[in-house]
Amino acid sequence: MSVHLEEMLAACKPYTQQGQLPSYIPALKKGDPKHLGVCLLSCDGQLIQAGDCGVQFSIQSIVKPILLLQALLDNGVDAVRAHVGVEATGKPFDAINYTDQVLDSQHLNPMVNMGAIAVCSLIRGSSYQERFHRLLALTRLLAGEDARIQVNEDVYRSEKASGNKNRALAYLLKTYGIIQDDVEEVLDCYFHACAISTDCVGLARIGCVLANKGCQPGSQDPIIPPEYARFVNAILTTCGMYDGSGDFAVRVGVPAKSGVGGGIMAVVPSRMGIGIFSPALDAKGNSLAGTRLLELLSRELNLSIF
Ligand code: GLU
Repeated sequence: MSVHLEEMLAACKPYTQQGQLPSYIPALKKGDPKHLGVCLLSCDGQLIQAGDCGVQFSIQSIVKPILLLQALLDNGVDAVRAHVGVEATGKPFDAINYTDQVLDSQHLNPMVNMGAIAVCSLIRGSSYQERFHRLLALTRLLAGEDARIQVNEDVYRSEKASGNKNRALAYLLKTYGIIQDDVEEVLDCYFHACAISTDCVGLARIGCVLANKGCQPGSQDPIIPPEYARFVNAILTTCGMYDGSGDFAVRVGVPAKSGVGGGIMAVVPSRMGIGIFSPALDAKGNSLAGTRLLELLSRELNLSIF
C-alpha cells in the first residue's frame, strides 16, 4: 500500500478550521478542533497511519453498525428486519413533502437515532447493563485489542443529562409499541454505547473486519458471519453518513459511518478498513476535514465501489 498520507493530511488541515464542534452534547465541545488523524489497515494486515492517530474519541453513531451486528447475531436477519427498516428515506416514490402521521417500524433506519434506539431493545441480556457489556465485548472482538476500546464516562454522563431529543424519540417508540422495555433503561444503553471510545487505529480495525468478509486482517476465519458484514455494509452505503450519504457516495464511494465525536469508519470491500478522526463537523454532522481526506484517498487509491 503506497500512499502519501502526510501530504494529504497537510492538504486537509485547513478544513479543520471550517467545521464546528457539536454543542448539544456539552462534553464534545471540549474537543480540539485542530486534530486530524488517519489509519489504513489492509485486509492482508498492512497498517499505515498519520497525524493524531492515537487520540481517543467517543465513537458516537459509529456504534450503530455494531449495535446492528449484535442484534443480527442475537436474532437473525428476519427478526431484525421485522423490527427496523433498511430504507434510506422511508418515503414513497411520489412523496412531495411527506409528514409521518404514524410511526411504522419499517420507516426506522438503524443508522439514525430512532432506529438505533429500537435496535438496543433487540440485544439479548437479562438487564440493559448486561446488554451493553455484550455490545462492548463485540466492539472489542471486532477491534481485536481490548485496551483500544474504552468507555468515556464523562461523555456518557453529559449526553444522559442533555439528550432530551433522544429521550423524546425513545418515548415515541414506546408509545407506538416498537419498544416494550423501560425507556430510561433502553436510553441508558444507547448513551453508553455512543460513549464507547477508541482511536483511528481501532476504527480501521473494526472497518477492516467488515471489509474482509467478517475476518480479522490477515485471517480467513470469520469472527462474524460474512452475510452480516455484507448486510451492514449495504446499509452503510445508503445511509451511513446521515443525509449527506448521497454526496459522500458521489465524492468517496465506499460504505462508511460517521459520528458526531468526529470519527469516520470507512469500509473498502475486500481491500481495507479506514479510521479517521477530526472533530470539527460540517452542517450535516460529518467530520469536515475527515470527509475531504477520504475524498483525496479515494481518488488516489481508486477506492470507489461505483
Ligand atoms: N449520541 C449522538 C446522538 O444520539 C450520536 C449522534 C451521532 O453521532 O450522529 O445524538
